[in-house]
Amino acid sequence: MAKVSLVHLRKQFDSSVAVDDFSLEIEDGELVTFLGPSGCGKTTTLRMIAGFVAPTHGKILIDGEDVTQTRPHKRNTGMVFQRYALFPHMTVAENIAFGLEMHKVPPAARKQRVATVLDMVRMTGFKDRYPRQLSGGQQQRVAIARALAIQPQVFLLDEPLSNLDARLRQAVREEIRELQQSLGLTTVFVTHDQEEALAMSDRMVIMHKGTVQQVGKPSDVYEQPVNLLVADFLGKMNFFRGRPIADHAFLTATGTVLSVAALRADTQCVGVRPERMLLSSQPQLDNSIQVKVTSVAYLGPQIEVTLMDAGNELIRCQLSNAAGIDTQVFQSGAEVFVNWRADDNAVFCDS
Ligand code: ATP
Repeated sequence: MAKVSLVHLRKQFDSSVAVDDFSLEIEDGELVTFLGPSGCGKTTTLRMIAGFVAPTHGKILIDGEDVTQTRPHKRNTGMVFQRYALFPHMTVAENIAFGLEMHKVPPAARKQRVATVLDMVRMTGFKDRYPRQLSGGQQQRVAIARALAIQPQVFLLDEPLSNLDARLRQAVREEIRELQQSLGLTTVFVTHDQEEALAMSDRMVIMHKGTVQQVGKPSDVYEQPVNLLVADFLGKMNFFRGRPIADHAFLTATGTVLSVAALRADTQCVGVRPERMLLSSQPQLDNSIQVKVTSVAYLGPQIEVTLMDAGNELIRCQLSNAAGIDTQVFQSGAEVFVNWRADDNAVFCDS
């Protein structure tokens, strides 16, 4: 097991900077996800940890040892790719044994290790099949087994679930998390899927244009986004721009006064999550805005209602499709109130 330290990592490709001043301590046995929009530098950072990409600047330490100049196969990291990258002409067992051969593991121990990791990913009966004879989910399990066979100190996964359908994604995601926890593996998991990152991570790193925006537990990052970029990227949020006019009063650009618990003098924008809002026929709670329902989307467990305020600003509200829900308040065209508590506002100073 191992601790990974990334120290001021930077990667420049010609004139473009893919990763800039990325520093992070990944604890022993921790699962950290890198999350962010396409092109924000997640894969490049992961590949620097694996040793496939050399940093332009900065250091990588595994258990205190500087591995920045160490070749990939000497780093003791196990990597799983988005496309399973199995050798098509080798059986499942041969695919897994290949890495062990490279690590000069003797044949008897190799055989034993192949059996152990196939058992871990519940693929024991498939050892003599070729990759083309396996489903996508099975191929990805083999790729995971292959990465684990060498008993890596650090487990690296680059969007390993994105080629799988929704149901399988969730199943394999849970299997990876269980395996990672039972083995106590220090793991870095790259994804652009928010739900995946929220569900799996001990901590998540939100990236934007090569830089780290926020690092924290999923609930902390979701509940307390540090800036507008994070708030906008993770989940959905309604934003109201404007200025403070008193200790807890914020005047929006369209002339509404919002009650905000933790307002600061430099607040330029107030945000509220759609699921924190209530719809009613009479004003309720600390904040109430009169709105008109413009559209209703039935999503099964939730109902997403789009509203328009007096200033023609759209507000999105997400209601839980719970027993006893009042369907009258979200008929298209209805004049209703959208309500939320002063505590449920997030405040931002960057516009
Ligand atoms: P995605 O989610 O789409 O995989 P990402 O967050 O993993 O994106 P990276 O693949 O790390 O992003 O790419 C970061 C930036 O670096 C992008 O602008 C990309 O075009 C650029 N880049 C990556 N690899 C190279 C390369 N070998 N040569 C030049 N530019 C590169």
